[in-house]
Amino acid sequence: MTSILKSNSSVGGLAMGTARVLVRGTRGSEARILPEAMDCERERLRSLIAGSSSPDIFSAHLEMLDDPLLLETIENNIAEGMAPREAVEAAAEGIAAMLSGCGDDYMAARADDVRDVCRGIVESLCGDSSNQFADIPDDSVLVAEELFPSDTARMDFSKVRALVTRKGSVTSHVCIIARSRGVPVVLGVDIDAIKDGDYLLVDGGRAEVRINPAEKETETFRKGIGNDNTVPEEIRRLVRESGIRIFANAGSVEDIKEAIAGGAEGIGLFRTEFLFMDRNGLPSEEEQYRIYRQAVEACEGRPITIRTMDIGGDKAVPGLDIPKEDNPFLGMRAIRISLSRPELFKAQIRAILRASAYGTVRIMLPMITRVDEVTAAKALVSECMEGLKASGTPFDNDIKVGIMVETPAAVLVSDLLAQEVDFFSIGTNDLTQYVMAADRGNSSVSYLYNPLDPAVARAVGMVVEAAGKVGIPVGVCGEAAADAKAMEFFCRTGVDSLSLASPSISGLTT
Ligand code: PEP
Ligand code: MG
Repeated sequence: MTSILKSNSSVGGLAMGTARVLVRGTRGSEARILPEAMDCERERLRSLIAGSSSPDIFSAHLEMLDDPLLLETIENNIAEGMAPREAVEAAAEGIAAMLSGCGDDYMAARADDVRDVCRGIVESLCGDSSNQFADIPDDSVLVAEELFPSDTARMDFSKVRALVTRKGSVTSHVCIIARSRGVPVVLGVDIDAIKDGDYLLVDGGRAEVRINPAEKETETFRKGIGNDNTVPEEIRRLVRESGIRIFANAGSVEDIKEAIAGGAEGIGLFRTEFLFMDRNGLPSEEEQYRIYRQAVEACEGRPITIRTMDIGGDKAVPGLDIPKEDNPFLGMRAIRISLSRPELFKAQIRAILRASAYGTVRIMLPMITRVDEVTAAKALVSECMEGLKASGTPFDNDIKVGIMVETPAAVLVSDLLAQEVDFFSIGTNDLTQYVMAADRGNSSVSYLYNPLDPAVARAVGMVVEAAGKVGIPVGVCGEAAADAKAMEFFCRTGVDSLSLASPSISGLTT
C-alpha cells in the first residue's frame, strides 16, 4: 500500500518524480592537526574561502566569509588543535547560538546564514560540494532536512520537479523561488520515511507526498498534472487571436534568458527584491546597475519592466532593520519603504535609469494606494534624471513609469492614478488577498482566495475601464495570468498584456 505523508505547510502544484535524498556532510573523525601542519591548514582554509567566490554563493555569504569573527573563530579552533572541518562546524554553532540567543528576529535569521556558509565550507573541505546538486538527474524530487538560500542558487531547477523538507517555512527564500518556478514544495514532512530512488507524487495543494504509488494512482495523478498546467488549445488560440501581448515574469537574468528563448515578447515584471534579500548589507547602486544592465541586455531589444523593490511583507530584508510588525502585509512594504528611505530608492532608480540606456526599460512602482505616492516617487525619478544629466550619464529620457494595481485603494482611485502614470499592471496575487481579506499563504482561507471571484473580477474591470479612458495600457502580472479560465477572462475584459512565469508561455505566442 502506498504510504502517504501529510503536512500543513506547502507551496501548491502537482509534480511527480524520483526522490533524491540530500545527505549533508556529518561530523567526521578526522585526526587532529599537528602544530607543523597548522600553517598549511590555515592556508588551505584561506584559499578555500577565497576560492568560494563562485556565483553559487550569495553575496551575503561572501560578506560573511570576509567577516573577521568567523575566520578568527575558525582559526582559533584550529589553533586549539581541532581538525578543519570540526573547527568550522564548532565556529558555526558558536556564532549561530550567539545570534539566536540575542532575542532579535533579524539576528536569529542571520544564524541560519552562518550555518549555511559554514556548511558550504565543510562541504568543500570534504570535497562533496560538487555532487550535491550538480548531478541531479532529470525529474527529481529533492528531499532534504532543510534547504538553504544558497541551495536554490546551486540547484538546476529544470531538473527539479518538487521539494520535500522536514524544516522550513513557506515564506522562506527557497519557497519564494520555488513558487516562481512553479515547483511545488511540501514542508514539515517526516523525511525518514523516504528513501533515495523512491517514486513520489507531490501534491502541494494538499500538502501531501505519496511514496511508491500503485500504477493506477500514478496515472490519475498524471492526468491531474495535465489539468493543473495545461491551457486548452481553444484558450491559447483566443489569446493569440486577441492580440494580447505575452510577457514573462522574472527574478533573475537566467529567468530572462529562459523566457526570451521560450518566446516571451519581453519581461512584464522583473522582481528586484531578491537583490535585497539573503544578505547582510544592501546592494549598492553599482551592483544594481550591473544586474539591471545584464537583464536589459538579455532581453535583446525587447521591453523590460523593472519593478522597484517590493520588500517587506513576507520578504524580509535584514539590511533594512524594519521593526517587527504584527501585520507585515499591511505594514511597511514596497513603495512605503522606498518613500521612507529616499536615498535607498534613488540608488535603485539611478541604477535602473543608467541601465535604460541599453534597451527599452519601464519603471514599475509596487503597492501603490494613493496618488501622492506616485507623485512623490516620480519627483524622485525626476531628481535622479537631473543628476544623471548633470554628470553626462546616458539614460532613456522618455522612460515610462507605471504602477502595480494590487490594493483595493488603487482600484477605487484608478481613474485618478491613470492620469499620473504611463501604464497599469494588475498584481492579482496581492489584489486577491486584499480584496478578499484572505492571506495569500494561508491554506485555511484558500477557498476565498480566488482571482476570479466576482469581487476581484469587478476590480479588474474597473481598472481596465479607467486605463481605457485615458488610453494607457493595462497588463496582468499575478499568477492568475497563467490560469486558463482567468486568461480567457482577461482577454475578454480588454487587458493588453499578460506577464507569466516562462514555463506557462509555450503555445501562447506565435
Ligand atoms: C502580485 O501581487 O500579483 C505580484 C505580481 O507581485 P508579488 O507576487 O511579487 O507580490
Ligand atoms: Mg504583489
